[in-house]
Amino acid sequence: MKIAVLPGDGIGPEIIAQALRVLEVLKKEGMDMEFVEAPLGGQAYDQFGAPYPEFTQKICREADAVLLGAVGGPQYDTLDRPLRPERGLLAIRKDLGLFANLRPAVLYPELANASTLKPEVVAGLDIMIVRELTGDVYFGQPRGMRTNEQGIREGFNTMIYSEPEVRRIAHVAFQIAMKRKKKLCSVDKANVLETTEFWKEIVIDVAKEYPEVELSHMYVDNAAMQLIRNPKQFDVMVTGNIFGDILSDEASMLTGSIGMLASASLNETKKGLYEPSHGSAPDIAGKNLANPIATILSAAMMLRYTFDNEAAATRIENAVKKVLAAGYRTGDIYEEGMKRVSCSEMGDQIVAAM
Ligand code: NAD
Repeated sequence: MKIAVLPGDGIGPEIIAQALRVLEVLKKEGMDMEFVEAPLGGQAYDQFGAPYPEFTQKICREADAVLLGAVGGPQYDTLDRPLRPERGLLAIRKDLGLFANLRPAVLYPELANASTLKPEVVAGLDIMIVRELTGDVYFGQPRGMRTNEQGIREGFNTMIYSEPEVRRIAHVAFQIAMKRKKKLCSVDKANVLETTEFWKEIVIDVAKEYPEVELSHMYVDNAAMQLIRNPKQFDVMVTGNIFGDILSDEASMLTGSIGMLASASLNETKKGLYEPSHGSAPDIAGKNLANPIATILSAAMMLRYTFDNEAAATRIENAVKKVLAAGYRTGDIYEEGMKRVSCSEMGDQIVAAM
């Protein structure tokens, strides 16, 4: 297992260090893992003058999976746009052909008070949102702003999905559902938008290959409402780029704690980029205060989705649960009466629980 490790900026190096300690436990027990480090974002700009330099491209292309911290920082905000850290993220996603974005929203019962929703609505929540990442109205052509024949200015975009694009994301979603509770909800707006009526038709066709998965369909406006009303009804949700953008942010906030949220982006060969959903948190960088759990859970996703090692992934997740149940909390999830720990102390506890 060749893993490219990109610590990035801000808290990136601190949280990646803890994820690596957890993976080292498995490596010491005999799991065949090789880590190769490379810079991305501001760190790469400082070293190579570009946010996704050739040095990093080569390492990422040769790796089976990429583990990323976070990129960005105020010192880079005045750079020309193509040189900014965030451009490195867009470039790596494009370079590796990452079309499937997996965003779990998991709320451990111990953290139910962190959500803005009532604990009984969200405690035990475990949803996976599968978002198509490279198509839809975000990339459709033609697009632009113009003055029409009546002399009126207008803006326009094209919502479009091809059959292969829908098929491949549907397969990813069904395969993930097979590894979970075998329930998949496809989100569309088929009553109004032909693109998503087409989406629904293809998803129904792909479903024939997964008879064990219970498939349902929901309009996106209703899905937005149901996520707040009764989120525990969902297991896996699959949707296009724009709906997924909005719903995955909504779902992640059900949990209330950004330091806990992992994510993955996969390509057709299951190669994946694994990273926490949060940014580089410059306000707490270098202070050993960050919550490393989102990154550690991203490493667990890597073992599950790229390396098909369910047992190792579950073992990491169980170690996290055990540490939370024992009352250890970093500042972002701290509550009165709990044991407040630093980033590296959280790492110590999770390694010990492994
Ligand atoms: P952010 O996610 O970095 O921080 C938002 C707030 O959450 C901050 O108060 C921060 O301290 C806190 N926070 C985030 N992660 C935490 C963790 N693990 N533990 C404890 N607290 C945590 O978002 P932002 O402040 O909007 O952006 C900061 C920088 O990160 C910007 O340069 C932005 O462009 C970049 N960014 C990068 C990514 C990425 O690398 N994928 C994503 C979002 C933002």
